[in-house]
Amino acid sequence: MDTSYTVLARKYRSQDFQSLIGQDVLVKTLTTAINTGRIAHAYIFTGIRGTGKTSTARILAKALNCLSSDRPTATPCGVCENCRAIAAGQHIDVLEIDAASHTGVDNMREILDAVQYRPTNGRYKVYIIDEVHMLSQSAFNALLKTLEEPPAHVIFILATTEIRKVPVTILSRCQRFDLVRVPVDILKKHFAWIAEQEKIELSDGANELLARAADGSVRDGLSLLDQAIAQTGGHVDEASVLNMLKRADRGVVMDVMETVLSGDTATALEKIDSIYNNGADLSMLLTDMMEWTHWATRMHPSVRMGDVVNAPYTADQRTKIREIDSHITLNTLSRLWQVMVASVPEMQATGNPKQCFDMLIVRMMHIAEMPSVAEIIKKQPTAPVAPVAKPAPSTPKNIIVSTAAQLATELQSAKEILLYSYYTNNIEVSDFSDGKITYFDRGTDTDFEHKLLMWLNDKTGHTWTLVREEKSEHVQTVSEQKREELKSDPLIADAMSLFEGAEIVGSTK
Ligand SMILES: [Zn+2]
Repeated sequence: MDTSYTVLARKYRSQDFQSLIGQDVLVKTLTTAINTGRIAHAYIFTGIRGTGKTSTARILAKALNCLSSDRPTATPCGVCENCRAIAAGQHIDVLEIDAASHTGVDNMREILDAVQYRPTNGRYKVYIIDEVHMLSQSAFNALLKTLEEPPAHVIFILATTEIRKVPVTILSRCQRFDLVRVPVDILKKHFAWIAEQEKIELSDGANELLARAADGSVRDGLSLLDQAIAQTGGHVDEASVLNMLKRADRGVVMDVMETVLSGDTATALEKIDSIYNNGADLSMLLTDMMEWTHWATRMHPSVRMGDVVNAPYTADQRTKIREIDSHITLNTLSRLWQVMVASVPEMQATGNPKQCFDMLIVRMMHIAEMPSVAEIIKKQPTAPVAPVAKPAPSTPKNIIVSTAAQLATELQSAKEILLYSYYTNNIEVSDFSDGKITYFDRGTDTDFEHKLLMWLNDKTGHTWTLVREEKSEHVQTVSEQKREELKSDPLIADAMSLFEGAEIVGSTK
């Protein structure tokens, strides 16, 4: 290999608007503006790192100063004195300032002092301020003064990864462009083209992995490709990239999730051992498992997000996920997601991520097996000994109510929401016997007695007597009783221990 190896990101830096990767909207808007002579005095480019902010700034500087035309051109020649000097970062009228190392107001004043002088070789003096959000407040103020009344020959191009940290006063003076994350397919095309130029082998699977790991950043993707080339001597295949990324194969991740959801603890833990021993990074594995959960949720029959072609899985794997989806509820997926999210900081904080990961797997299996809280509550018998009277709502048959809890159930199934809620939360029933209820009312609804009496007489078909006591016997309301019962249920207790600080606020049935 060449001894003076230039990193790919630099070697293949976009030199004109046409070769900017994945920024079609920006390219179209900017070229139209330049071609029609609508040049702004200040631009701000924002986007994640490695999407082409600085490249765009330089191309714009070339477009403004290229000598191939007597006015700014959207297609700078790239070979004239100005174009070459700007590409090399050596043009006297194009100043590139890294705000991270020039944060102070003195730096900024010094730079801005020269603004008034006309350009030496170019048409415009161009100030490119990279990572502009790093400037101090006073430096921003100094910059703002210049932005308010910029000399005609000066253009500012600001770039930032954190637009929210840039004062609105500055933003309002700039034309803003958002550089988007470059989509996986476009990155892949770009990397494949570069591999061809570099005469290296890059398998499609390896390319896919690199493009996904790049997460929208051309530069990050290319530096991964640099590494892969160096490690493999130019034969970049899927296995070598997986190894480099310390990532388990997607098939392995699928396998782990399937085992976890099938509830086979021993096998799941064995699998984790083997993945770990093969050198995979567990936090990466966790990321992949979260990715799986995210896509399984999107593909779930009750969500049906439609387009899943963008999912990072093969058609076979997608079929498999759909099959697993048909056995689990959305609720389970969302709870799996929650425990995984919770264990991200946990894994970082603990000195032993493997232990933490094993515990996570156990927790996940527990969730996969556990019915949801709603399902548990549905199964709770509402009254342990009472005979179950369950008339269909369509039949006008009389209902039988023989316990305080049963009354609550009947009110609820009759959709008497107000009565139900008042009764379960305020009424302490001290005695419930055939046709007579003795109770204390904690609430203030004077109509309650009348309303309940009407309802009972109507639905049961016989006459009830309600005796309201003046003093509380300190009996629990139906809500309080239910809460106590739930707390003592082992499954609920488990669920509560999973979600720290959890509280039972109500039940659906
Ligand atoms: Zn030129």
